[in-house]
Amino acid sequence: MDLKNLGEHFALWRAARAACRPLPARLPSGFTRWKDLDEYRRALSEVRRDWSLAGQYELHQQIQHRLPGALRAICAECDAVTLMHFDQPESGETNWRETLRCERCGLINRWRLAMHLFQVLRTDEHLGPIYITEQLTPLYLAFKRRAAQTIGSEYLGPDCAGGETRVHLGHELRHEDVTALSMADNSIGAIGCFDVLEHVPDFLPSLSEFHRVLEPGGTLVISVPMNLEAYTNERRAEIAEDGSIRHLMEPQYHGDPVRAEGVLCFHEFGWELVDQIRAAGFMESELWTVWAPEFGYLGAFQPFFIARKRGVPVRVDAHPALVQTRLRAQEHADG
Ligand SMILES: [Zn+2]
Repeated sequence: MDLKNLGEHFALWRAARAACRPLPARLPSGFTRWKDLDEYRRALSEVRRDWSLAGQYELHQQIQHRLPGALRAICAECDAVTLMHFDQPESGETNWRETLRCERCGLINRWRLAMHLFQVLRTDEHLGPIYITEQLTPLYLAFKRRAAQTIGSEYLGPDCAGGETRVHLGHELRHEDVTALSMADNSIGAIGCFDVLEHVPDFLPSLSEFHRVLEPGGTLVISVPMNLEAYTNERRAEIAEDGSIRHLMEPQYHGDPVRAEGVLCFHEFGWELVDQIRAAGFMESELWTVWAPEFGYLGAFQPFFIARKRGVPVRVDAHPALVQTRLRAQEHADG
């Protein structure tokens, strides 16, 4: 063996290992994986029981802790037990997903969970950088703190070119259209697409784009508004032939860091998305739900679509030993 090219050997070894990178078998407490709606339905009675307990637990916490508006829990990002503050609006209920801000890192429930998922999925072992389909958010900054080469982007309008940088609201932002990314094939280690696809009228090409730019063994994490009891995706609005928006349901707008008026929600997703992700070429495609009071992930179950690209290592053909590794990995993946 030629020890002069250790760096190259190392890269090849990591690439070969990526070929047989299954999704983790063991998940933290409160994380549940589901293959499909049938499996979920079979467990539904149990899930419902947990669900009602969830409400009780929150109440319990509020009263017991004698810390109004605060909960002590494990912050996976800080790797410590910290105090998490939550909003208690005068009218209406606490939106648990958007609160429970860690006193130390400043991240709210869903942001801490997004970071935690990437930890669980060991994306630090991937070769390429992480790509997050947002750039004006504390979540992007948190990923950037973890890995300086993290790429973020915002959708800045139809007249921008992919990869182009523009100053917007005093920030230098990179424009990307998730249905036509500017990144090279096999160049990204992991993608986090949080609460974006529901705003893309025709989102299917973005799944193919995610698959194209991910490296072999690369990881995809998607969150969208989802009806856990439905298979079929539901269309809330569509673009008519004359370019106008036709509403099929009561229009729903979500907050957006780039546009003050918010962005229209075109879809509510069902389990169909698990199959659509697989159809885009991904080796594994699952739905994970998370509800874990010990980590401060309260509120309704937070669903995430998790997938991995089939691993075929890059540039291993010159190394006979690694070709063997690749073949074994391929058999494993096919098996
Ligand atoms: Zn924290």
